[in-house]
This record gives sequence, structure tokens and C-alpha cells, in this order.
Amino acid sequence: MSDYPRDWVFDVVLKDGGTTRLRPIRPEDADGLHRFFRRVGSDSVYQRFFRAKSDLTPEELQYFTNLDYSERMAFVAIHEDEIIAVGRYDRLEDQAEIAEVAFLVEDAHQGRGIGTLLLQHLTNYARSQHITGFRAYVLADNRAMLRLFRDSGYHLQRDLTEGIYTVDFPTSYSDAARSAEWDRERRAVAASMMPIFYPQSVAVIGASRSPASIGGRLFKNLLAAGFTGPLYPVNPNAPVVNSVKAYPTVVDIPDPVDLAFIVVPAPYVAQAVEECAAKGVRGLVVISAGFSEVGDRGRVLEGDVLEIVRSSGMRMIGPNCMGVLNTDLDVRLDGQFGPVFPPAGNVAMSSQSGALGIAILDYARQLNIGISTFVSMGNKADVSANDLLLYWEDDPATDVILLYLESFGNPRRFARLARRIGRRKPIVAVKSGRSSAGARAASSHTGSLASLDVAVDALFHQAGVIRTDTLQEMFDVTSLLANQPLPDGKRVAVLTNAGGPGILAADALASRGLELPEFSEELQGRLRSHLSPEASTRNPVDMIASAGPAQYQACLGELLETDEVDAVMVIFIPAAPEGTDEIVTAIAAGAREHEGTKPLLTVFMHSQGAPSGFREAGVPSFPFPEAAAGALAAAARYGAWRRRPEGSMVRFDDLEITEARTALEAELGGVSDDGGWLQPDTVDRILSAFGLPIAAAATADSEDEAVAAAAKIEGPVVLKVISPSAVHKSDVGGVALDIQGEEAVRAAYRTVTAAVSDPRGVVVQEFVAGGHEVIVGMTEDPSFGPLIAFGLGGVFVELIGDVAFRIHPLTDLDASEMISQVKSARLLEGYRGGEPGDVPALEETLLRVSALVEALPEIVEMDLNPVKVLPPGRGVRIVDARIRVRRVTGAFVPSRKDIPAVIRKIRWDPPQGG
Ligand code: ADP
Ligand code: MG
Repeated sequence: MSDYPRDWVFDVVLKDGGTTRLRPIRPEDADGLHRFFRRVGSDSVYQRFFRAKSDLTPEELQYFTNLDYSERMAFVAIHEDEIIAVGRYDRLEDQAEIAEVAFLVEDAHQGRGIGTLLLQHLTNYARSQHITGFRAYVLADNRAMLRLFRDSGYHLQRDLTEGIYTVDFPTSYSDAARSAEWDRERRAVAASMMPIFYPQSVAVIGASRSPASIGGRLFKNLLAAGFTGPLYPVNPNAPVVNSVKAYPTVVDIPDPVDLAFIVVPAPYVAQAVEECAAKGVRGLVVISAGFSEVGDRGRVLEGDVLEIVRSSGMRMIGPNCMGVLNTDLDVRLDGQFGPVFPPAGNVAMSSQSGALGIAILDYARQLNIGISTFVSMGNKADVSANDLLLYWEDDPATDVILLYLESFGNPRRFARLARRIGRRKPIVAVKSGRSSAGARAASSHTGSLASLDVAVDALFHQAGVIRTDTLQEMFDVTSLLANQPLPDGKRVAVLTNAGGPGILAADALASRGLELPEFSEELQGRLRSHLSPEASTRNPVDMIASAGPAQYQACLGELLETDEVDAVMVIFIPAAPEGTDEIVTAIAAGAREHEGTKPLLTVFMHSQGAPSGFREAGVPSFPFPEAAAGALAAAARYGAWRRRPEGSMVRFDDLEITEARTALEAELGGVSDDGGWLQPDTVDRILSAFGLPIAAAATADSEDEAVAAAAKIEGPVVLKVISPSAVHKSDVGGVALDIQGEEAVRAAYRTVTAAVSDPRGVVVQEFVAGGHEVIVGMTEDPSFGPLIAFGLGGVFVELIGDVAFRIHPLTDLDASEMISQVKSARLLEGYRGGEPGDVPALEETLLRVSALVEALPEIVEMDLNPVKVLPPGRGVRIVDARIRVRRVTGAFVPSRKDIPAVIRKIRWDPPQGG
């Protein structure tokens, strides 16, 4: 009998935004299953068993709850400790790779999508057990069940005989099944956030009469902003808070409560949450601190709170957070304790730091950034940035998403969501912790090149997230994106009334990859017609200090309308104290007149800051040209990412996965728990099975064997010592190149084996002449998963650091971008008369490495260094390869594919003795 599969416990969000826990059934469930069965209506029972059935016998209960999990599986859905649904499969007797599935959902919980989620998890589990197909028998009039199968995106085959459908479908992950899952996830998570952002009624547990306390400030903010529903202070010691009748506990409130803020000391929080569950509250914002952020005791407390939240189907922000707010006039929810309620607008924001959140709201007002919703996430025990992304994806009030992140809960899910959402709405992120890089101890080139930050950069790059290093930059780019369209390209016009700042702006733009094109004669002529003869009509357009409102407005109009540029930067230096307001008005008028044509940025170099006329016209204004250039460059890069095709996963149909796995497993048994490097023979077999072209080679234990091996290889050979101690063989003289003739082979054998203290024979390898040497590698990041690296230059890669990283899996576009991103890769194009390389073959190599990493999750590190890139049409040849593996523990080999709709996976202790 196999162990209880405790990795398969999930908390999931349902269609209506409620949550439930799915877990494998266990023997202790017999009583619960019995109670469940007796609650289920007779019609539902009939459709499940095709006959009336009033009870389950003890034998049936025993059969249904005692499983050999490699043969059968059943997931139960739990709500408030009771079973509310069961989905199960049994392998067919005559066809073990096919299993029959069946579902039973308690009547009160039907229509919530529980069956669909049960099917999804059963399918994932079945796949891990090598079950290839499911079969279901469904009564012809059981529409709900037929719809469930159809909506799951699986390709069905149906056959109707005697009023019963036989439905057959494969368990393999089709694109349709995946997108159905993702769609479900989006709708369900967004629905679950509604009670938090649009509550009909709010309670504040710990509302205090003291205006200095957090509970007091929060309650006052809610009142002052004019929350549109009823507000209930909860305070056992005060009958009234701020003239509002208070209740001793949330349960005493006579009317329903959607959302509760909790501002009581940590030890009382669990009790308050318990009461909220009893009251039927659906959303919680726990402000109280003293949880996982203070250490182990707090972590236990947080775990207890989370357990109540999950088992009662609520959603929770925090704990240890500053609150939430929604500026929508339909709610006017100011659920935070800071002093500022920001202006309404199209920017949604979440912050992992509460204090920073307060500062951000304060600046937002000053910087012309309007907020739609704001969330201080705190410890993110339940609601994560990923959940918020799913809510904002379809939120009509939000055009730009801002994230201040300190850590990722589930980076792979983040990558998947950001990639999709970023195509519709820009995501701007400040990720702190850039300098904590490089703590990784590694013995391969790839490992030592990859720092944590490299992974974050790769993630953001692939997902189109706009990464900013500082808060200042974050605000700069946000005020541009929130107010102006995206640039269609890199060409910028600069319009100024002073030469110096124009030149500074030109430099700042150019150094960030933007261009200042020469204007056509025609455009220059039109500009000239508005200007005095001393002005310069080239780019930057220097209107000189005498330029007045009319000149600004006319020239701005020309530049916004021309096809010769993609963006306009207007610089104004108030040379004289008078006339400033008029010029601001003129620029704002010009912007309004040509609104939406292309992005406009203003640089207003004045210590008083930007005048309000710009703010009202939605024109972002910056104090210095560098800040404006930085914002525009980020917007241009994002625009380019959005225009580029999405890239696709490449499937190779010549992969010999079984052969690679057999080779791996033959050696895996001898590998220690921390993992180990594979023998050269095994490495060769694995790479060859995946169509990765490795130079012909054989191992030899003596001079004679080396001579025999060399004779089998056409042309000159290479001898390399095999030695556990030598990580880089050539460093110690363990490699002899371009060897020809028996005597030379013998001499080389002696030399290379003498170079180390622990020779274990040699590898005799085909000598590959010419070509460019590149490195292709892979290393595993603990939170981001496999990273794939590419660089040029063999031994110099570490020194130069000219390396590109991407997170696995790679698309075709990732592979070609990785190569072009590396500066020295221009050598492969035949730089300055040098020999060009076979770039398509190199791209294919990267994609095949990604396929290998996918198929063998045991691989934790890989160094192909060097790969020799031969001239076009002649392919590549791997001449040195190392692979490190570790055993993947447990019966369940986690797929590297993200399993969607799994909102979070939690630890669950197995039943005693189970
Ligand atoms: P290590 O990385 O352990 O020092 P390599 O096997 O990478 O050892 O060999 C060192 C260098 O020798 C390579 O970077 C490459 O320049 C050259 N080399 C190795 N094998 C071959 C080969 N089969 N054909 C041509 N050059 C080779
Ligand atoms: Mg090498």
C-alpha cells in the first residue's frame, strides 16, 4: 500500500469566490463520508450510481476510504471540517492505463465548480501515475456532468447506448485544457477579492476611541472618506466610537458583515477571526502585527489564523499590514491608517512594506498619479501579489499596476500571470534586494554566473515587467504610463528654450537606447515658420530664450502630428519670472489638442516643481531631463515587448526520453543525497538521446585502450583525463589537443594522467577544429526553478560576465533573444571578416537543453562548455559537458509545469499512523 500522498493537499478558490480544501481521502474519513452521503439528495445519488441507494454499507465505506493510491484515487472537498464532495477514479480491470472517474457533490454546493476542480486534480494525479485516459459513464439527462467534462477543455469522445453516455478523454495536458484552467483561475480569484474591494458593510474589530491609536485612525479614515455602506465598530469596552454605536463582538452585529478589519493585539486575532467565520464575514484585513515577521512563535500564530481563514472560505489580506483602499465612488473605502487618501485614478498598487505604502500614497497626490485600489500586503499569508494581479487584470478602473516586492511567493505563477496581463496593462515593479546577489556556492561556470538577481531580471524580462531600481524611477515611469499613450518606437523629438538642457536631454536619451532623428527639410521648414531666425530647427529644436507661448504651442503641435518621431520631450526653463503661466497653459493646450497621438513629457526646470496646469492636462512633468529620459526609455522597452510576437514552445519529436531516463537512473542510485556529477559516458548518452550533438568519444583505462579508441575516430583526437578532483581539466594540464598518431596518443595519455593525483583513465575525443566557443548552461534557482544561460568565450565568461539568462522553459523567441542580447555574440555574425557561426543550430541547442531540463527534473546543474559553433550549415559540437543530478524525493515527481488553479499548496501533516 502506498503512502498517503500528502503533497496533494490544496486550497482552491471556487467560481463564486469561496474557497475549499481538496485532499486525498483517508481511512479516517469513513464517518464523514457516511454523513456526507446521507446529506446528498436522492437525485444526485441516482445520477452517480444509476440506481436508488439509501445508504452506504460498512463494506462500501471501507472500500471507498482505504485506497492503494497507486491504483485508485479519491479527492474530497472539505468545508468547515465536513466533506461536501468526492471525486474518484479506479483503474479499469482490463486496461490499467485507463481509469473510470465519478463525482458526487452535495446538493447545496453544486454549481460552484467543485466537480471541475476535482476533475482537474484527479487528472493531474492520474498523469503522475501514468494513467493516459479517463472514462466516465453519464446518464443522458445529466447535463451538468456533461458540461463539466466539456468545459474542462479536454477532447472528448462520446458514445450513447441505452441512455448512458460513455465519455472517454485523454489525461494529457492539452492547450485547451490549460487555458480552461487558467480562465477558471482568473474568474474565481477575482470573485474572491470582491468582498475586500467592494464590501457592502464593514466592521472594524478593535476600533478605538483614541485618535492616536491605529484602530482609531483606521476607523476615522473609513468614516471620513464616506464609505457607502454601514460601518460597525467592534469594541467590548466602548458602547460608542466616533458617534457610531459599537458592538462587543462581530457576532453581536445584527446585520450581515462582508469585510472585517482586525486591529487587536496578535494573541486575540485568532479568536476574532473565528468569530468572523461564525458571522459569515467573507473578507478580512488583518492589520495587527506580531506574526511570522517576529519569528517562530508568530509563525505558529499565523498558521492558526490561516487555518481558520481557509477552512471557512474567507480571504485575508495581511497580517501585519497597513490596510486597503478603493477610491471608486461606489464604495469610497479608505481602509488604511495613514494620513492621506489619494486622488482617484487608474493606477493600482500593492506594497509589501506598510511604511512605504504610506509614503507612496502621499507622493501619489503630488506626482499626478491617481490610485484606483491600493493594498498593503503585509505578510501575504493568504492573498498574494499574484491574486491581486488576477483581480486587476479585469478591473476596469485600473490601467497601470504597481508592485513593490520584497519576495516572491510563487515566481512561476507570477511569470505566467505577468506575461498574460502585461499584454493588456503595464506592470511596474520595484524589487528590492538587488545587492544580496551571489550567495550561491557553485562549482560550475553557469552556477557561479547566476546570482539571484539574474533570475529576477530574467523573470521580469520574459514577462514584460517594467523593473525600476528606485522608487523615484517607479513614480517617473508610472506618471508617464498612467497619463500618456505608449511610444510606437524609439525616435524622440526634443523641444527646448535653452541649448544646454537640450544637449543634456539628447545625451540622456541616447544613453538609454533612444534616438534623436534628423528632421526632414519639410518638417524643419514648418517649424521655422513659427520661429525666429536664430532658432535651430534641427533635433533638439532650440527655440531660444525668447520663445513665447505661441511658439511652444505651434511647434509642439507640429511634433505631435509628425510621423518622424514616436515621442516628444518639451523642456522649459523659466528665464524670466513673467510669462511662465502662459507657457504652461500653451503647452497644456497643445497637449489637449493633439491628445493620444504620441507620448508627451515635459521637463520643467524650476525648484518649485511642476505647475498644476500640467497635472490637469495629464502631462507628466519631470524636474530634470535624465528622469524624463529614463521613464520614456522604460515605456519604449515595454512597448517593444508588447509588439513583439509571443514566441512559442518548440516540440521536438525525436527525443528519446526513455533512453535518457534509463541512462540517468543507472547512475542515480550511487548519487549522494546532495547530488553529484554524472560520469562522462552517462552524460554522452543523455545528451545524444536529446539530439544534442556531442563530439564522438570513448573512455580508455590504459595507453593501449586509448590507442584503440583513437583508431576508431577519424582524424586527430583530444585526450582528457578523468579525475574527480579536477573541476576544470585544462587548468591543471589534463587536456591534450590535436593529437595524431599512435606514439603521440601514448605520450598524451601519460601527460594528462600525470597531471592529477587521482586519474581514472581518459576520454578520447574527436578533435573539432575551428568554430566559436560558447557556453550553454543550466542551474537551478531555489525559487525560480531552472535558469538557462548562454555566453561566449569559454574560459573568459566569468571574467567578462557577458551572459544571458532565461527562466526555463524557453520559447523560440527566448532562444534567439538570448543570443542577440550577448554583445560578443556579434562574433557569430562574422564580425570584421571573422568566420560566422551556425546560429540556427545554436538556437536549437538551447531549446533542446530546455526540453532535457523539462524531461529530467533530476538535473540541477549543467555546463556545456565549450560548445563549438561551426560555420553556417555545419551545426555545433559539444566538446565538454558536465551534468549534476540529485534524486527527486517522494513517489510524486513534481512536474515543472505550473499547476494552475492551485491557489496555494500547503503542508499537511498525515493522520497519526496513516
Ligand atoms: P575543462 O573545461 O575541464 O578545462 P575542456 O574539455 O573544456 O576541459 O577542454 C578545454 C579546452 O580545450 C576547451 O575549452 C576547448 O577550447 C579545447 N577542447 C576541448 N575538447 C576539444 C575538442 N574535442 N576539439 C577541439 N577543442 C577542444
Ligand atoms: Mg570546459
